[in-house]
Amino acid sequence: MGAMTGSFDLVVIGGGPGGYVAALRAAQLGAKTAIVEKDRLGGTCLVRGCIPTKALLQSTELYVQARAGAPFGVVADAVGFNWTVAQKRKTAVVDQLVKGVEGLLKAGGVTTLKGSARLAGGGVVEVAGESVQAKDILIATGSAVARIPLKGAELTIDSDQILELREVPARLAVIGGGVVGMEFAAMFAALGSKVTVLEMLPQILPMVDADLISVYTRHLAGIGGEVHTNSKVSEVVKSGKSLQVRFSAGGEGGAVDADQVLLAVGRVPYTEGLDAEKAGVKLERGRVVVDQQLRTTADGIWAIGDVIGGIMLAHVASYEGVCAVENIAGRGGRTPDYHAAPNCIYTEPEIAHVGLGEAEAKQKGIEVKIGRFPFAASGRALTLGQSEGFVKAVSDAKTGKLLGAHIIGPRATDLIAEATLAVQNGLTLADIELTIHAHPTLPESLVEAALAAEGRAIHIANRRSAATAPASPPPSSAVASSNLALNAANRDELLRLHREMQLIRRFEERAQEQYTKAKIGGYCHLNIGEEATVVGGIHALKPNDYIFTSYREHGHAIARGIDPRAVMAELFGKETGTSHGRGGSMHMFDAKLRFMGGYGIVGGHLPLAVGGAWAVKYDQHKDVVFCMFGDGATNIGAFHESLNMSKVFHLPVVWFCVNNRYGMGTPVEAASAVADIYKKACAYDMEAIQLDGMNLREVLQRTEEIVEKTRADSEPRFIEALCYRFKGHSVVDPDKYRSSEDKEKWRKADPIVAFEHELESSGLADEEYFKALRQEIDAEVQEIVRYADESPEPSPDDLYKYTYAGEWEDRHELRAGDV
Ligand code: FAD
Repeated sequence: MGAMTGSFDLVVIGGGPGGYVAALRAAQLGAKTAIVEKDRLGGTCLVRGCIPTKALLQSTELYVQARAGAPFGVVADAVGFNWTVAQKRKTAVVDQLVKGVEGLLKAGGVTTLKGSARLAGGGVVEVAGESVQAKDILIATGSAVARIPLKGAELTIDSDQILELREVPARLAVIGGGVVGMEFAAMFAALGSKVTVLEMLPQILPMVDADLISVYTRHLAGIGGEVHTNSKVSEVVKSGKSLQVRFSAGGEGGAVDADQVLLAVGRVPYTEGLDAEKAGVKLERGRVVVDQQLRTTADGIWAIGDVIGGIMLAHVASYEGVCAVENIAGRGGRTPDYHAAPNCIYTEPEIAHVGLGEAEAKQKGIEVKIGRFPFAASGRALTLGQSEGFVKAVSDAKTGKLLGAHIIGPRATDLIAEATLAVQNGLTLADIELTIHAHPTLPESLVEAALAAEGRAIHIANRRSAATAPASPPPSSAVASSNLALNAANRDELLRLHREMQLIRRFEERAQEQYTKAKIGGYCHLNIGEEATVVGGIHALKPNDYIFTSYREHGHAIARGIDPRAVMAELFGKETGTSHGRGGSMHMFDAKLRFMGGYGIVGGHLPLAVGGAWAVKYDQHKDVVFCMFGDGATNIGAFHESLNMSKVFHLPVVWFCVNNRYGMGTPVEAASAVADIYKKACAYDMEAIQLDGMNLREVLQRTEEIVEKTRADSEPRFIEALCYRFKGHSVVDPDKYRSSEDKEKWRKADPIVAFEHELESSGLADEEYFKALRQEIDAEVQEIVRYADESPEPSPDDLYKYTYAGEWEDRHELRAGDV
């Protein structure tokens, strides 16, 4: 043991945010205090963690903003980025803060000892060959980068090394989707690196509410980043001048080429050279074991911060430091309370959360109310030009207490402070609402989220139910044709149908926009122009009738009563979609509403409808199978086979052809020898009619007649609804094959406008009503898109499970081998 050079009430080992804050608090409480640091004061946080990363992220944020300055009137030609200068600034910020800590300790009367500390037992701490005696010792030695036994790990860099890079890598692979990995991913992606993240778990940032993740990954994808979840890295190899990361995902192998590979698989408690166990301090998988008051197993030795594991964050380390020191000073036995420890992630957009997540609260058996407010509806966010993301408030449905808040968006890491105060102090949604918030500010969004949880938000349309997954509304009831006369008694019914047509129109217009923003995968066909055909046809059915449609089906689904949010979410491939995102844009399905959805291949659903009708007949039910398809499908073999079979076996199918005049780019007259498609059904000796598909009331009345006949005699029938699509075949169709005169002529027959004329001339509605309705629907559809945007992604594990089915059980007994 070295010479005894001093004695102290408290010796703190480690000068990070845990240690130095504890030392300052101890000094405030009158303890003669020393702090030992082997490197630089400030620890991981100031030297290689929180501060340097945030300094560099500020540089990248400014760079991104400068490049995007034109719409703000900022003229900044040839904006560039100088990594060396950004690094210099980062170092200056770090140096200034380290100096600040040195100054604070000095001013507080804390003695700083330089060197590596070792516990020599009996309250003695050895530092650089000398010894000091301490009444109490506080271990705050923090953590170090975790390493895994990965083949080729020596080719990777860690978070310490990436901060010292001399240049921005053209391609960066990040192994590990935790906070550190994602912050660097965000930083380098913003600087133009091609970033690929490989995460072993099903979700990056696993502690973050899943709803927030999709916003972040979408942003990252928008700037060229890629995220591979469920991807286990097997090795890193040299490949010419670059590196290659090899991984396996779902049984398949993959590889990513990169110039730098960041290994960011977490941090581990650091006790090297401390001789902790020799001094009686128990370690468990490297972390120092402490009791509720932060005492270790050795008398007079305490521990805090990263070295004790748990929440490894700077502010938690500081908080524990203060708790421990107050316990040492005999002040009231403080037990750290972590229920309101905020977590901030400085990605773009920023993410912050505190308290319970929605799933976590439900797991605990708490009935919750959820409120969300999108930054797109925040005046302040719009002025900042940063309207991505939302605030989500999780509250106790019974008491109204705010249990948690989850934010992704501008300055989320600052916004979380108010929610933290509320969660810590058990404040309710009402407490937040009753607090006047300055305008225009981002914190107003928390108030709105609190109000939204109660269904009372002011600046967004409120959802009918605050539940995450839309509950299917009851099946839409058939509209009796007797209710279609244009008189006051039928006003509500008529306006409901009109509203539905408008909703479908606006929904489709917005869906088209979303497709061009790459939010909808696969194909996207729109019902624009066909609203009367769709609404009239579907409303002629009874709740127990079955609907088989092709992929041009969003309007059909909405008319059937499927929540439009679930329809949009399905198009986006989200968990809250009608088929949990498994069907995507090509297959819409809802068993409860007997909506048997689409089938991606043209006319592929016609034989399915025959099968469905056969089942109905076999069960001797009085349901009708209603099969909707476009004119293009009538030129294929499956059409003829299906009509033939339905006739031969007397099946209760109504074949409903939406003749919108063009099968893809070919006019009906050119594609078919018989331009009157209903005549094709005559060949099978089937009753067939042609009706005006631009006239809602005609479609509904005549379809109802046909459907009811088929219900009565189980004979197939055929309807041809003549209409016109206002857009091309799909959203990617440039629609050059139709003359503008042709389009103009049909535009004049717009089914919605035509119905509005009827309503107006019979005094049931006026232009003011239509205008207000359009505004209302605009807001509703905006909310629908937002809902779909913010819905969680389906779990990749479930994605290929039961694409068409509901949640039914696996029935082994139905398999041949098991019988
Ligand atoms: P540390 O900060 O690790 O300090 C421990 C100190 O002890 C070190 O200075 C070390 O040199 C010294 N030491 C160790 N052993 C001895 C010994 N035997 N003798 C003398 N000295 C010794 N957290 C946040 O809250 N927000 C963030 O934004 C954030 N960003 C991060 C970014 C990165 C890249 C990293 C790596 C971490 C980040 N963290 C962040 C985590 C944060 O840095 C740590 O949680 C925090 O520093 C822990 O504080 P501590 O005092 O427990 O330990």
